[in-house]
Amino acid sequence: MRYAILGDIHSNLEALQAVLADLDGRGGATELWCLGDVVGYGPEPRRCIELLRQRPHCCVAGNHDWAAVGKIDTWDFNEAAAAAAEWTAAQLQPPDIEYLKALPLQLQRGSFTLVHGSPRQPLWEYIMSLAVARDNFSHFETAHCLVGHSHAPVAYRYYVHTRVCDHIELPAKLSLKEEGVRLILNPGGVGQPRDGDPRASYAILDDEDATVHHYRVPYDVAATQHKMREAALPERLAMRLAYGF
Ligand code: ZN
Repeated sequence: MRYAILGDIHSNLEALQAVLADLDGRGGATELWCLGDVVGYGPEPRRCIELLRQRPHCCVAGNHDWAAVGKIDTWDFNEAAAAAAEWTAAQLQPPDIEYLKALPLQLQRGSFTLVHGSPRQPLWEYIMSLAVARDNFSHFETAHCLVGHSHAPVAYRYYVHTRVCDHIELPAKLSLKEEGVRLILNPGGVGQPRDGDPRASYAILDDEDATVHHYRVPYDVAATQHKMREAALPERLAMRLAYGF
């Protein structure tokens, strides 16, 4: 079976459509595994939720998803993120609100735990250092964990026999067959990449040959930016899409 791993769509319809078209061109997937932050920052929250819901999928809650429905406070958000959360809240209709409110903090699929931030703090913690990654390996029971939140494609590896942890940029093809290695994987961001590459980032898990494939997909950044300016969303949020930061 094949599963598409998508994180941090962030109301970016053009990016989501491009990723789904790319996925379909590669033979599709049985199920989409979404790592949260479907909404926030971008101009198309409702259509992104709708498009996701048209496909077999599962999804965990992101901080932006719950902020947009008032389930958590935005005190920890920067000014632009808080303004976008407020704008998003005003767009959402009852079925969208119900959907986002009901998202779980954590899910398990086969040998994977799915969370937005980290298994220790699913909504808020960023896994961006070896020390934080290493601590988190004791907070989930499956072999591997999938995370989003930092919008950067990366793989943290924990060697169970030596208890050593290292990390690599998520390669085009990563094998899960290595004995005694647990992984925390981030597929990168669909709708707001932050690793200096503006192309949408996602991954496909092929559980028969135990590999994860990482893909980058160009999309119409200018179209998304245009919609953001029309909606008077903070200019900084539109600009960053062009640079992937
Ligand atoms: Zn995010």
